[in-house]
Amino acid sequence: MAEASPDQAKAAVRAAELAAWQRDHQFCGACGTPTRRREDQVAFECPSCQAEFWPRVTPAVIMVVYRGDEILLARHTRSKTSAVYSCLAGFVEAGETLEEAVAREVEEEVGITVGHPVYVKSQAWPFPHALMLGFLVPWVSGEPVPDGLEIVDARWFRRDNLPELPLPLSIARNLIREFFHDPSL
Ligand SMILES: [Zn+2]
Repeated sequence: MAEASPDQAKAAVRAAELAAWQRDHQFCGACGTPTRRREDQVAFECPSCQAEFWPRVTPAVIMVVYRGDEILLARHTRSKTSAVYSCLAGFVEAGETLEEAVAREVEEEVGITVGHPVYVKSQAWPFPHALMLGFLVPWVSGEPVPDGLEIVDARWFRRDNLPELPLPLSIARNLIREFFHDPSL
């Protein structure tokens, strides 16, 4: 994704997501019968109980928490050897709104209370089928305490002391750029 053109990246993302969907829906999840492809739709159907299985899209939230002119970025355990600081993020749980998911993830990962999130943009992320929904959200109270599970370090950064950032094409980098109104970031 880092090396492809935007069109190539878009095609690769869709291909990866469809391949994962095809791999995961060879049998009906309700009754176990082998499924078949519908000819008129991008869908599998069960010939026995007629259940339908569409390409799965899993919503996840990603957010820049800000306080005045500084933003909260975190080093994630999954990139243990990397010095990159990025946004907090996590999957939306069943029955949850996006606003609730943002507040819960920030609370769980760093123990901070946030206010109302404002939507900025989204990005499909094919690992394996996430749709990342990006927000800016104001800090309300608390100082960052990493949970030690997903987050190893979390700190406030200003425009003039930013750490190593995620790839330019990533939604995390886009959100950081958006907050500072700086296309050169
Ligand atoms: Zn079935």
